[in-house]
Amino acid sequence: MNIKKPECYEMKKKAERSFPGAMDEAQRKTLIDLFAEKVLFEQPMEQWTTFRVGGNADALCFVEDMFTLRRVLEYAKKTSTPYLILGKGSNLLVKDLGLRGLALLLRGHLALMERSEKEGDHLSAGAGLHLSNLLNECRRRGLGGLEFLAGIPGTVGGAVLMNAGAWGKETADVLQEIEIMSSSGELIKKNRAKLHFAYRSLDMLEGSVVVKATFKCTKRSSEEVEERMRHYREKRKNSQPLEYASGGSVFQNPPGDFAGRLIEQVGLKGFRVGGAVISSKHANFIVNTGGAKACDVLALMDLARKKVREKMGVDLQPEIRVVGK
Ligand SMILES: Cc1cc2nc3c(=O)[nH]c(=O)nc-3n(C[C@H](O)[C@H](O)[C@H](O)COP(=O)(O)OP(=O)(O)OC[C@H]3O[C@@H](n4cnc5c(N)ncnc54)[C@H](O)[C@@H]3O)c2cc1C
Repeated sequence: MNIKKPECYEMKKKAERSFPGAMDEAQRKTLIDLFAEKVLFEQPMEQWTTFRVGGNADALCFVEDMFTLRRVLEYAKKTSTPYLILGKGSNLLVKDLGLRGLALLLRGHLALMERSEKEGDHLSAGAGLHLSNLLNECRRRGLGGLEFLAGIPGTVGGAVLMNAGAWGKETADVLQEIEIMSSSGELIKKNRAKLHFAYRSLDMLEGSVVVKATFKCTKRSSEEVEERMRHYREKRKNSQPLEYASGGSVFQNPPGDFAGRLIEQVGLKGFRVGGAVISSKHANFIVNTGGAKACDVLALMDLARKKVREKMGVDLQPEIRVVGK
């Protein structure tokens, strides 16, 4: 079933015609110096998010150590340049006119496993590390407890910030401590008791960056850890449309119910706007079947919220983070 393409296609064309160059030469030069050339300008965010939609980021910067991170946060503060920490972009919908300012990717020293065997049943990792690498280390060391994260396509920092969870468990259950850099460059350690987690969120000071996380695991055999991960990956494959680009669950599950069930109930499975479709496998997934725009996804989100509110009396809250212009 199709619905009319949103007016935003026209709005986007108009805006693109009148949109001024995002960064001037001096700003570019400063950033090139700051990041030792590890910076890309006018980067299409469709290449850096799992939804595969979104306009350009003014500058995509690869931050490889604490020193550079501190300097870039100082630069952002001094020049009032906005910034966004970008993990794998698996929970982000970037709008079609893109992101102003800096998208910061944590790499190098900020994406490493800490290898100290002294840690026993604890595991520490840089925030930029992909969860699949963290889980490989769990398997190698026979550390269980994090298997529920298997198949979530994010980074350690993204999992902490989103309190990622599945199958009745969430990151907050296994987190021991995080290290944060505040927007003024101060490094702060916070243990679990000082952190305010909620469903798919962590309450953190605006502009702070998670740089490291330590998890408390449970000793298990490597085979058992592997088997549990395989089990969860299989469940995921059977219930989610993994063959398409998406941002995972679009809406949070309301208390005692499932967003997917409600969207299915109001008859929206298979609804399409442009290249975006409400998945017929899992109604809480909007998939990009090719060439979707962020405004297509947003139009489907509006439709789902409206119908579910009207027919089921439930106000769905987005789980994905919508950013940009
Ligand atoms: C197919 C699929 C399945 C999914 N399944 C699940 C699931 O089962 N459970 C679940 O919870 N989620 C799921 N997700 C959503 C997503 O993978 C998770 O929310 C994940 O934790 C996001 O990590 P990321 O690194 O991609 O973060 P991003 O999407 O890049 O960022 C998400 C938010 O975190 C912020 N952020 C990221 N890193 C940092 C940092 N170091 N410091 C400060 N802020 C930071 C970003 O600025 C942004 O606001 C799924 C997504 C897909 C595509």
